[in-house]
Amino acid sequence: MAGNYDIIVAGAGMSGSLAAAGAAKRGHKVLLLDKNKPEEPGKKTNWGWVCGDAVATSHLDFVSRHIGLNFGKPELDVRVDGVIAYSPDMQTKINFDGDGYVLDRPEFERKTRDYAIKSGAEYIPQFDVEGPIIENNYVVGVFGKDKDMRHTEFRAKAVVDALGVATTLRRRLPDGQFVDKVVDVDDLESTGRFIYDCEVTQEDPRYYDPKNALIHLNQNISPGGYGWVFPKAQHGRVNIGIGVQKSSLEIRNAKFGKKDTLHTLIDEYVRSIPNLKNPKLFNKDNNGKGYWSVAVRRNIECLVFNGYLGAGDSMAMPNPISAGGIGPALVAGILSGENAAKAVENGDVSTKGLWQYNVDFNSEYGKKMAAMEAFRVYLQSLNNNLINYGMAKFLSKKEAEDLAYGRTTELSMVSKMMMVLQGAANISAFKNLVYTVKKMKMFNELYAEYPATPEAFPAWREKVSKEIKDFKEKFKPNPI
Ligand SMILES: Cc1cc2nc3c(=O)[nH]c(=O)nc-3n(C[C@H](O)[C@H](O)[C@H](O)COP(=O)(O)OP(=O)(O)OC[C@H]3O[C@@H](n4cnc5c(N)ncnc54)[C@H](O)[C@@H]3O)c2cc1C
Repeated sequence: MAGNYDIIVAGAGMSGSLAAAGAAKRGHKVLLLDKNKPEEPGKKTNWGWVCGDAVATSHLDFVSRHIGLNFGKPELDVRVDGVIAYSPDMQTKINFDGDGYVLDRPEFERKTRDYAIKSGAEYIPQFDVEGPIIENNYVVGVFGKDKDMRHTEFRAKAVVDALGVATTLRRRLPDGQFVDKVVDVDDLESTGRFIYDCEVTQEDPRYYDPKNALIHLNQNISPGGYGWVFPKAQHGRVNIGIGVQKSSLEIRNAKFGKKDTLHTLIDEYVRSIPNLKNPKLFNKDNNGKGYWSVAVRRNIECLVFNGYLGAGDSMAMPNPISAGGIGPALVAGILSGENAAKAVENGDVSTKGLWQYNVDFNSEYGKKMAAMEAFRVYLQSLNNNLINYGMAKFLSKKEAEDLAYGRTTELSMVSKMMMVLQGAANISAFKNLVYTVKKMKMFNELYAEYPATPEAFPAWREKVSKEIKDFKEKFKPNPI
């Protein structure tokens, strides 16, 4: 036994460091644990920090507003005007307005971790959290191995799980009706990304744009996902990667008689960018090349259990369409730290005592995620031809932007469109889009009624699960 705390935060990534900072600022005795060495907080795996590192300014502003932490150089590597998504044939683009930054991720993580320490949290690096300590159906601490491989236990009134997608805490909670322990493999993207210095042989902003984050949709090169080229501050330096869905990749390989893997596809993607030549790994902090997973479903519907709260990737919070998980990790870090602190102050860390965190996260971020999951599933059912046609003909810029942000747009042109569209497959894809938008509305309405108490949760969750299951039955991955 190594000591008692008010709050333990497991994982010193961005969600964990902000949770620890927020709780410590309220005067609580907080312990922040991470498996990495002190100079590497937030490093997800031996492969590095593995991320596209793009984040909207609005999310950084949320952090400044809520806990007074401001960002600048060096952690904000470069500012971008927005995101531009290209169709597989590169003939259509959709601009998503809204500025943001591509981060120097290790610098960003060190800054948030340092802020947690400055705010009063005790930090123990090189501690491997192996599981929760559970007594009387409450999480009362964590156990694991310290840097000398000694079994160690820490106890606290509440534990925040910020361990990322491979969490050893959420998966080891007692079985029950509240926190889901399993994420379906079809709701995960396998991803690979490199940071390369390249020679820019000609200006072509469709492939490399120093002012925008580019997304390339192509079911052949990144089945069930997308490729990205995000600029870094130095001209020609890029964060480049792809995400693939396992079943889409299998279907694509079977149809083409190929044996491609994430590794072969990312190399092919890098080679396919015509104006970036002679890529050389930029390996600062040993973070040049890596592979990891990201969940792209609605966040786990209930984020709390007796003595337990989860934040960030441990709770499948990344946006189902963009896989952007930095924003929700920052938001959830702050809200979980604040709510853990309040529950400790109120002397009630039961599921009921922690419930307000569910309500707060849903209202700040989670409420649109089920609708976006539905839209993601629809997109994964389209091949390149249908995506090309759909991006060119189905939607205005505003409608596309609305859908990608989970807002359900009125497709007011429906009857007119049906007259204009050509080809049975295209018409069917458009009808499916109309159906998808209807379902997205339904999900948004369901989430607007997120249960105010745990008692109402099981019935609500059953409705959500049934609707998602039915939707996925209708739309199967069909990349080729
Ligand atoms: C390839 C890729 C590209 C992405 N691109 C983007 C993007 O461009 N924009 C965006 O917004 N999001 C992106 N994401 C998602 C984003 O990276 C994550 O959502 C974000 O890192 C989540 O932060 P977190 O703090 O919840 O978890 P993590 O960043 O995973 O941090 C978890 C921390 O817990 C530690 N830890 C884990 N297990 C243990 C253990 N057993 N014991 C002790 N410590 C442990 C880890 O070492 C780490 O320090 C991408 C993800 C991937 C994989």
